[in-house]
Amino acid sequence: MQNLNAKKDLMQILNEHGFSRRDFLKWSSGMATMLGLGVTFAPNIANAVENASNTPVIWLHMAECTGCSESLLRSDAPTIDSLIFDYLNIEYHETVMAASGHQADENLENAIKKHAGKYVLLVEGAVPAGSSSFYLTLGSKGHTGEEIAKKACENAEAILAIGTCSSFGGIQAAAPNPTNAVPISKITNKSVINVPGCPPSEKNIVGSVLQLLLFGSMALDNFNRPKWAYEHRIHDYCERRGHFDAGEFVESFGDEGAKKGYCLYKVGCKGPYTFNNCAKHRFNQHTNWPIGAGHGCIGCSEPDFWDSMQAFEEPLKNKSFRTFFNDATSDKIGIGVLTLTGVAIAAHATISTIKKDKE
Ligand code: SF4
Ligand code: SF4
Repeated sequence: MQNLNAKKDLMQILNEHGFSRRDFLKWSSGMATMLGLGVTFAPNIANAVENASNTPVIWLHMAECTGCSESLLRSDAPTIDSLIFDYLNIEYHETVMAASGHQADENLENAIKKHAGKYVLLVEGAVPAGSSSFYLTLGSKGHTGEEIAKKACENAEAILAIGTCSSFGGIQAAAPNPTNAVPISKITNKSVINVPGCPPSEKNIVGSVLQLLLFGSMALDNFNRPKWAYEHRIHDYCERRGHFDAGEFVESFGDEGAKKGYCLYKVGCKGPYTFNNCAKHRFNQHTNWPIGAGHGCIGCSEPDFWDSMQAFEEPLKNKSFRTFFNDATSDKIGIGVLTLTGVAIAAHATISTIKKDKE
């Protein structure tokens, strides 16, 4: 697919959806702040976006639910983030392109050939690999997803894994992983930037692409996630944190504590183990997010969360909130040695334990 909006000016696209130049500049300032660059970088952001249509983008779908694309594209009122995504020079994206069958295969081959070494590859979904690769057979020529992804990776200038399936395997790779699904990083030797989440927010997708366009690289954490989005835990900025600190917990869904907005740790919140910025930026045009709606975080941006974060509505391990000090799972997912914040959690948990014991 050639970019449908390639001939349109960015401002024309934004104006058609009711956004002014002022809105765009305001958005650029917000994006610069969100990326940790400071508002002085707002003109650079605006400039990078205006030139974004020069960078070819190929978006591949592997084994997945298309939720990550939906996160970006399916809003009842398009945001500036999603409109900017439209403005990128998207050469191939199976969800939004008109082509199918032989024509679609041809478009992908042509895009890879024409832009070899220059395109940004975004991959959504895990890849059934090795002798199980046939579980994902795509297109009119019957290539496996693994073959297609390998070829696209070989010729890409940069690769971003969009969503937890592509970043870490996701639900496809959950035990017993019947299709031998692997993250995209396992089928290429090239460096892959992981943008996990089930789905990741549109801000994390667009922000990571913009960082790449601006600087060609970005600071990553141990799991190759952009630090600007995944540096802090859900717990660090959660609006219910005050209740955690005060030892005020929801004991069961629908109880008095739930009505008062108490902390969801005892009903399974994995916010203390999960690195993402949902607490700050929320979803659906910043209206709400899972914890705001009354359910704990299930840890969707962490590796193997389908296996390691179960049961979703119970605390980890021995189901006690006293387990922070010896929590092997938290070590595994990257908290590692207790940080100062980890100590604080343990202290707070102890305080709430004492409080409970007194009761
Ligand atoms: S445990 Fe969950 S609900 Fe409670 S403060 Fe932490 S992130 Fe928020
Ligand atoms: S709150 Fe937790 S489970 Fe929900 S989207 Fe954010 S990281 Fe994923």
